[in-house]
Amino acid sequence: MKESATVKDTAAVIKHIEELGLKPHISEGEEKTIIGAIGDDRLIQKEQLLGLPGVDTVIPILKPYKLASREFKPDPTVVSVNGTKIGGDTLAVIAGPCAVESYEQVLEAAMCAKEAGARLLRGGAFKPRTSPYSFQGLGAEGLKILARVREEVGLPIVTECLSQDDVELVSEYADVIQVGARNMQNYAMLEKLGKQQRPILLKRGMMSTMEELLMSAEYILSNGNYGVILCERGIRTFEKLTRNTCDIAAIPALKHLSHLPVILDPSHATGERHLIPPVSMAGVAAGADGLIIEIHPNPDKALCDGYQSLHLDQFRDLMTQVGTIAKAVNRAI
Ligand code: PEP
Ligand code: MN
Repeated sequence: MKESATVKDTAAVIKHIEELGLKPHISEGEEKTIIGAIGDDRLIQKEQLLGLPGVDTVIPILKPYKLASREFKPDPTVVSVNGTKIGGDTLAVIAGPCAVESYEQVLEAAMCAKEAGARLLRGGAFKPRTSPYSFQGLGAEGLKILARVREEVGLPIVTECLSQDDVELVSEYADVIQVGARNMQNYAMLEKLGKQQRPILLKRGMMSTMEELLMSAEYILSNGNYGVILCERGIRTFEKLTRNTCDIAAIPALKHLSHLPVILDPSHATGERHLIPPVSMAGVAAGADGLIIEIHPNPDKALCDGYQSLHLDQFRDLMTQVGTIAKAVNRAI
């Protein structure tokens, strides 16, 4: 819409789009309002739209992901989690154990996370394990522990939803719902999460392209949930020395293609404790909007991913190191 467009002009364009059988999506930018028309582009007649008062230009978006694209929304999206912002000038560091094991374990990790400057707490109550015989998480009990710790420490919680059946339960407790790498293409679950109002942390599948990740984000956005945070967590390659291969280039590439915030998970991307600080710094230097890092009060006793979990004092040091890089790229931590 033109800068001079009135509220009435915008309302008339929205009505027109709806009458064509398309879904309108309104994005209020700093200077301009952009109205998306989602659906079959054959239903649109450019000239007719251009003739409506207040319409500036009509741009067809050729990318297969529309709502997620920069073309559609040039301004970066800042996802707000109860006042904590992901995608702004301040980096959002999320820290916590891989899995919720006990109240004491989560509390100790959370207190360290908060004191060191993390803005959110992570912890899996439902764990996607490669072996059915491995610890599967505490389930609903784990969600209650997270909520109790949130109450005491004051950090919002990020926790994974593994199944379509658990969407309501997880949204009751989580401040951000995580979709793990293994579920990135669980379209039925993505659609259901799109109908929730909780922000979604969408992790890249271990064998997925960036475009596939953006298409998965589109499933959530097109169902009405615009709070999507993308996460690079490493992809599978021939390299065996690291658990996954960290695709640092995905950070600026995704930010170029999309307005959505992008964070890095250096823990799963490397699977090696000593690689986490340098890779975290690289991620921040490459423009990541945040990091999600596994920490544990006693990694040797962890029930899941202990070998890649940082000791609490290692996390404190990492935050200092990352802070230096953040400053160099004009971000606060
Ligand atoms: C996790 O964050 O604990 C996790 C299981 O990550 P991913 O889905 O990236 O493997
Ligand atoms: Mn893990």
